[in-house]
Amino acid sequence: MSALYGTYARSELAFVRGEGVRLLTADGTRYLDFNAGIAVNALGHGDPHIVAALKEQADKVWHVSNIYTIPEQEKLAQRLVDATFADKVFFTNSGAEALECAIKTARRYFWDKGQKDRVDIIGFSGSFHGRTTATIAAAGNPAYIEGFGPMPGYKHVKPGDLALVEAAIDEKTAAILIEPVQGEGGVTAFSDAYLQGLRKLADANGVLLIFDEVQCGYGRTGKFFAHEWAGITPDIMTVAKAIGNGFPLGACLATEEVAKAMGPGTHGSTYGGNPMACAVGNAVLDRVLEPGFFEHVEAMGTVLAHQLQQLMQKFPQYVTEVRGKGLIAGIKITPPVRDFVARLRDHKLLAVAASDNVLRLLPPLIVNEAEINEAIGIIAEAFAEFEAEASDAAQ
Ligand SMILES: *Cc1c(COP(=O)(O)O)cnc(C)c1O
Repeated sequence: MSALYGTYARSELAFVRGEGVRLLTADGTRYLDFNAGIAVNALGHGDPHIVAALKEQADKVWHVSNIYTIPEQEKLAQRLVDATFADKVFFTNSGAEALECAIKTARRYFWDKGQKDRVDIIGFSGSFHGRTTATIAAAGNPAYIEGFGPMPGYKHVKPGDLALVEAAIDEKTAAILIEPVQGEGGVTAFSDAYLQGLRKLADANGVLLIFDEVQCGYGRTGKFFAHEWAGITPDIMTVAKAIGNGFPLGACLATEEVAKAMGPGTHGSTYGGNPMACAVGNAVLDRVLEPGFFEHVEAMGTVLAHQLQQLMQKFPQYVTEVRGKGLIAGIKITPPVRDFVARLRDHKLLAVAASDNVLRLLPPLIVNEAEINEAIGIIAEAFAEFEAEASDAAQ
């Protein structure tokens, strides 16, 4: 019996090594990793530039506390500001903590302006923002909030219809919070028009717009951040997952106008943005901002989407929809997705389930066409196996 909390339905599979898009078990079995630690290992496993940065920083200083200036943190913040809409950055250790900072920032912004009743956050069904009490409340997924007490201050609407959002906004609304591409909720990419409409509604009603780009950001859709496709910007944005490529790091980015409400003492984190995390974060950013990186993701996203469409044509009884944007892709399937993920694992392909019975594919962003073809081949093989089993059962 494991001494761990029973919060995860874990596979017994354990990896001891990673190389690019592959993970290896102790006996040397190689798995094709189209999960990437759930969109974390954007640069795959063992990227030499990041490994070197981590080792170099380990020899200098690990941790000092945010009561001192941390040069690596200043540098990473400035680079993120230069590359985005934001003027200010707060570093965290995780996505949920980035959301906590975003929610606090939104509420404090209105409090600071004397609008102390503006505390409500409007979220969307199918969203995921983390597992802290505020973030489960913000997402409102009944399966995740059950048994954890009352959660005032959050409203939820069905995504896709701007009129529903408009109707939900009232004098208590502080912010609208949405993932431009829902990850765990079923890999739903919202249209540019919808995101633009949310921006307009926020502006017209004097409320803030928060984009949660923890999963869809950092290059995954083929732009640095997914909202860039829509040509609009949020007031606050949350980032994590790929930002540290596996070293725990997250960030909340905001405009100066909003962030100025968060003065000394309003927020903090012991580890957030420590020298180790930010040394790695800077090295990750070096790679992500290399010329051609986003173009590669976009090109591979096109290949993957095309291959998934073909898979749907070949197996219409098993694949009913292709979803996603760039290298956050999904197929809605008819076999139970968790069983199917296990079956793919037997075929040495790692993928991950999303809600709505969607098989989610999140390869490292360095994936190439041959590796995509290999993954599609494995999925096709698994469907063919299913087909054979079904016809055996019918006889
Ligand atoms: C994973 C995720 C989070 C939570 O991140 P943690 O690091 O697990 O706290 C928040 N939002 C989105 C969109 C995510 O995918």
